[in-house]
Amino acid sequence: MEISNYLQIKKQLPLNVNLLAVSKGFSSKEIKIINNLGQNDFGESRFQEAIEKKILLDDLKNIKWHFIGRVQTNKIRKIVQNFEYIHSVDSYEKLLKISNVSFEEKRNPIVMLQVKLSDDPNKGGFNPKVLLEKWDQIKEFKSIKIKGLMTINPKGLSSIENIKLFKKCRYLADSLKLQDCSMGMSGDWEEAVKAGSTWLRLGSTIFGNRTY
Ligand SMILES: *Cc1c(COP(=O)(O)O)cnc(C)c1O
Repeated sequence: MEISNYLQIKKQLPLNVNLLAVSKGFSSKEIKIINNLGQNDFGESRFQEAIEKKILLDDLKNIKWHFIGRVQTNKIRKIVQNFEYIHSVDSYEKLLKISNVSFEEKRNPIVMLQVKLSDDPNKGGFNPKVLLEKWDQIKEFKSIKIKGLMTINPKGLSSIENIKLFKKCRYLADSLKLQDCSMGMSGDWEEAVKAGSTWLRLGSTIFGNRTY
């Protein structure tokens, strides 16, 4: 594990930029080590894996769990029951269901809406135009706090191209008066900071290379 990377990055981030430690592929033991350094926000993208670690770490009351993976409709209730943040809500229908389930479960998750800003077929998300059209309805959804947008850039872009796409996310969030942009991963986080990210999602820079 790269504790020195973690400390180095943490030290240089502006105050308004939060760091989400993406622990998918890593053990509860490794989460504990980073948590001991003062890191409370952890991101997981696979539901079952996350739950197993969450049970093992139940005594660490300061951990906040963020779901960052693809939201499957049949997992929404369990995601709502187990995560404080959901970064990756990629459709109107899923958002509506999250809202209804949150009401039933008396939960108030913080939600980011994933937006699709490039035509990478591997990346999902709201079409920005559809998001703007439906915004008046979406912002009335009960029991959820929509705090921002989330995006994943395609791999292999130049630094300038990365900044350009991240800025699109920032402009869109600003136009909806949303504070947060969850953007920037191990390969492009410096560009994301320049473009106004407020949540970096960092896995391998902190934990090392995943074996899968
Ligand atoms: C795995 C993952 C990350 C972290 O990726 P790294 O390249 O290891 O930093 C960030 N966001 C999402 C949605 C992920 O699935």
